[in-house]
Amino acid sequence: MADTAIPQLNPPRRILMGPGPSDTHPRVLAALGAPTVGHLDPYFLQVMNETQSMLRQVFRTQNPLTLAVSGTGSAGMETCVVNLIEPGDKMVVCVNGVFGGRMADVAARAGAHVTTTEQLFGEVFSPEQISDVVHRVKPKVVGIVHAETSTGALQPLPEISKIVHEAGALLLVDTVTSLGGTAVEVDAWGLDAVYSGTQKCLSCPPGLAPVTFSPRAIAAIEARKTKVASWYLDMTLVRNYWGQDRAYHHTAPINMNYALHQALAIALEEGLEARFARHLRNHLALKAGLAALGLSYAVKEGQQLPMLNAVLIPAGVDDLKVRQQLLRDFGIEIGGGLGPMKGKTWRIGLMGETSSPRNVLLLLAALERCLGDQGAKFAAGAGVAAANEFYRQNA
Ligand SMILES: *Cc1c(COP(=O)(O)O)cnc(C)c1O
Repeated sequence: MADTAIPQLNPPRRILMGPGPSDTHPRVLAALGAPTVGHLDPYFLQVMNETQSMLRQVFRTQNPLTLAVSGTGSAGMETCVVNLIEPGDKMVVCVNGVFGGRMADVAARAGAHVTTTEQLFGEVFSPEQISDVVHRVKPKVVGIVHAETSTGALQPLPEISKIVHEAGALLLVDTVTSLGGTAVEVDAWGLDAVYSGTQKCLSCPPGLAPVTFSPRAIAAIEARKTKVASWYLDMTLVRNYWGQDRAYHHTAPINMNYALHQALAIALEEGLEARFARHLRNHLALKAGLAALGLSYAVKEGQQLPMLNAVLIPAGVDDLKVRQQLLRDFGIEIGGGLGPMKGKTWRIGLMGETSSPRNVLLLLAALERCLGDQGAKFAAGAGVAAANEFYRQNA
């Protein structure tokens, strides 16, 4: 007899305006429900080839070794690190937020001799700071985060890339939050090992980590004297499955790969430039609205991420109460602060599908209610009006 206590899965419908995951397109969710085929089925091999080709377009690279690692963004981080690092290799990790800190931890576990160079949370690295540390340490690899989701700061890369290469090192870059939301130019900027995730600006559920390796990075992998420390993430094995040989390594998460394929197709249908412009426009509209409610950003002008708005929680306002009310009464998720920013900032994501005028106006209206309930003072409707004015002037 059936047990009536068996729980049923019935997730609520949310609007995901936190630091990821972001909202997914219905076509992406439908792809998850498509018939599962075998991991060597000719149909799936075609899906893999198309996915690689679309990933190259999104990463703006010709790198042959471009694929989706089975695992979330952190697995992409670990893949880039363990393939480039042999025990005792020197690595510089730039830490200005939680994810830089995670990269330093991953690198140390992989046996790297890690030197961290630090910046205050919310700040970015200057070319001079990178130049100083690479000339002092002479590392094999320099690791840096492009879009620090924990702080909301965007790290400029082209100059740093030049400095790193002139010093004979490889540049490893975290583009988990930036890819699909703002320019990521793997070839033009000379990035060597780059990883991302599916659930931020690509608007796919979490589960895969796009990665790409430059010819320089591959030469370093091929010159290794020791085996890659992780069997699962070893690119010298995984690439035999994604490449011509199609040698079984591990069973690809078939339906997740369908979803990524669909998400990439949607991004390319929109066009990358149009997608970046959409992210920027909605960010600026939200910013105008938040300013009218008396909220300011935790990151300097000119360094703010278009897909992740880190704002200071006004004095006298209860962080948790506001986030709980947004979720309970409006179905909206925003993020709290991470690490040292906990209790000090909110992180409002406008990533991928989530980045729309509809969500900007909805959040501003809902925030007015939550902030007002806590005694915050502003002219009624000020946030929504300011965002609408921005949209009107930037049609
Ligand atoms: C989300 C994120 C990660 C980690 O990705 P997971 O999918 O959570 O494993 C790494 N780096 C940055 C910058 C991120 O935003």
